[in-house]
Amino acid sequence: MNFAELINKKKKGLALSKEEIDYLIAGFVSNEIKDYQMSAMSMAIYFKGMNSLETSNLTGAMVNSGKTYDLKAVSGFKVDKHSTGGVGDKTSLIYAPLVASFGLKVAKLSGRGLGQTGGTIDKLESCPGWTGEVSEAKFEEIVNKVGMSIISQSGEIVPADKKLYALRDVTGTVDSIPLIASSIMSKKLAIAGNGIILDVKMGSGAFMETIEQATLLAQTMVEIGKNHNRNIAAMITDMDKPLGRQIGNANEVREAYETLLGKGPADLVELTETAVGITLLQAKLFKDLPAAKLAARQRLVSGEAAPILKQFINAQGGDFGVIENYDKNFITKNKIEVLASKSGNVRYCDTDRLGLLAMKIGAGRATKEDSIDYAAGISLNKGSGEYVKAGEVVMTLMTNKPIVSDFTASAEMTFEIVDKEFHEPVIIKIISDLKID
Ligand code: URA
Repeated sequence: MNFAELINKKKKGLALSKEEIDYLIAGFVSNEIKDYQMSAMSMAIYFKGMNSLETSNLTGAMVNSGKTYDLKAVSGFKVDKHSTGGVGDKTSLIYAPLVASFGLKVAKLSGRGLGQTGGTIDKLESCPGWTGEVSEAKFEEIVNKVGMSIISQSGEIVPADKKLYALRDVTGTVDSIPLIASSIMSKKLAIAGNGIILDVKMGSGAFMETIEQATLLAQTMVEIGKNHNRNIAAMITDMDKPLGRQIGNANEVREAYETLLGKGPADLVELTETAVGITLLQAKLFKDLPAAKLAARQRLVSGEAAPILKQFINAQGGDFGVIENYDKNFITKNKIEVLASKSGNVRYCDTDRLGLLAMKIGAGRATKEDSIDYAAGISLNKGSGEYVKAGEVVMTLMTNKPIVSDFTASAEMTFEIVDKEFHEPVIIKIISDLKID
C-alpha cells in the first residue's frame, strides 16, 4: 500500500477500507509511517471526516495496537463510565462504589488531568501510597473482591492513541470528532466489559461548546460501542458551571466520600444517580430510569456504598485515613476568600478560567512534568444559582503559593451576580435505547 495515495484518498473525502486503516495504524506504531505523514492524514481526517464504519474500524485498529484485558477471571456484569473531562468532576469516585454496591463490577481505566480539567488518577494519588499501576492479575482480584478497581493507562494499552494524541496536540487536529471518538473509545474497548455509560461534557469548561457538537460526539461514540457489541449509552451534561463544590484533588475525594454518605451537592448527586441508574438498567436490574435512580438515591442516603471507596483505596495501597482526617492533613499556607460585591444569585460564567485558576494555585499541571499540590484547590462557598449577600464569601482559594492579586482578580472573572433566580439542569440530554422515562 502507498501511504501518499491513502492521504490523497482521504483528501478527496473518500472512505478508507478496514485494510487501509489497519495498515495506517500498524505502520504508524511501528514507525514505518512517519509523523509528518500521519500529521497530513490527521489533517485530511479533520477536514473530510470519517463515516461511521471508518471511525469504528479506526477504533478497532487502535485497540489492537496494544495490550487488552479480557477480564475472564472477573465474574458478573462488568461496567465502565467515561467522562470527556471537566472541572470539579469527581463522579467516577461516587459512581463506582455505588454501582459495586449493587453487585456489578467496575473495571476502569482512568487518566490524569491536564490544563483546566482534573484527572481521577491524580485525585486518588492524594491518598499516600495509592497506585494506579497494578498487574492484570491484581486488577482482576480487586474487581472481584471489592467490586471496583481503577487503574492508570500504561504505555502498553492502546499505544497508537498515545502516539497519535501527542501528534494531534501539536498539529491542531485534536478537535476532530472521529479522532476524539476513536481515541476515547479505543481505551474503553481495550478492557472487556458489558455496559458503558459516557458523560459528554458541554460548555465553557469542556471540549465541546455547543449542543450540536456534543450530540455528534456522543452519537459517534455510542455507534462505535454498539459496533463492538457493547451495551452503551451517553449523557450530555452541563460544564458551563463546575460540578459540585470542590475543585482540586484531596478536597474532591472528600466531596465524593461525603456524597456517598448522603451529604453531596444536588448537581453532583443528580449526575451520579443518572449515570448509576442507566448502568443498572443496562444490567437489567430495574425496569425504568426513575426506579433505578430512586434505588441509587436510597443507597446514597443510607451511606452503605461509602465503605467500598475506602476498601478500593486500601486495596491499591492507599491511606484513606488522610481523607477521614482531612482538616489535619490538607492544610495550605494561604486561604484567599473571594467576596461578593453585591447581593444576588451567583452564576458561574467562565468554568474554563476557574479550572485554569485551580491549576495555577497548585491543584493541576500546566505540563506533564509538573507536580501537584494535593492540598491546593478551590472550594465554592456558594453553588450555582445560590443567593449571596454583599460581602459574603463566594469561593475560597486554598494554596501554598505566595498570594498574588492575580488570583483574586481571576476568580472574580469566573462568576457574576444576577438579580433573577435561576435553575439550570445538569443533565441536558440522554442518548440511549433504554427506557429512560
Ligand atoms: N480524551 C481522549 O482520550 N482523547 C481525545 O482525543 C480527547 C479527549
